[in-house]
Amino acid sequence: MSEVINNNSEVKMVEAPPGLEGESFFATSLDAVVGLARSKSLWPLPFATSCCGIEFMATMASTYDLARFGSERPSFSPRQADMLMVMGTISKKLGPVLRQVYEQMAEPRWVIAVGACASSGGVFDTYSVLQGIDKIIPVDVYVPGCPPRPEQIIDGILKLQELVKNEPMRRRNTPEYKALLATYGITVN
Ligand code: SF4
Repeated sequence: MSEVINNNSEVKMVEAPPGLEGESFFATSLDAVVGLARSKSLWPLPFATSCCGIEFMATMASTYDLARFGSERPSFSPRQADMLMVMGTISKKLGPVLRQVYEQMAEPRWVIAVGACASSGGVFDTYSVLQGIDKIIPVDVYVPGCPPRPEQIIDGILKLQELVKNEPMRRRNTPEYKALLATYGITVN
């Protein structure tokens, strides 16, 4: 469904979630509405340590314009972000800092590993580099590349949006989720 708002541009409307529709009413589940709202308003926390961070800057800038996807508001406070984007080489010494940032984010929170370094250590198979951030925090989406192009970063965010849209509101309280975090030594109250 699309709606023409002037002669030069066209705004694509998101599809309505599945539900029941009739004359002057539409009914759906709370899960579907909350999932849709969350997925289109992810606030990134850019944890950028090296070259992949430059690609993120390009992703935010006018040509690629992350605002088109509802994520134009980067937060440098973990308490006001729900999408942790880790971009760059993470040394073992920096690992506890990243872990602390993750723990300071409120639930629900999601993580994207952007680029080869964050995903697997990349070319730095050395004693000092963490071989993937999923050694210390759970990751929802991995973006390949060294560096990934802005299109790939956007693709990763769109994939995360799909996950967020379809995530039941109660998932964070389930024993399975708590067990997942427990494998990282993180306790959820
Ligand atoms: S994946 Fe490549 S471009 Fe990205 S931080 Fe590592 S070395 Fe740099």
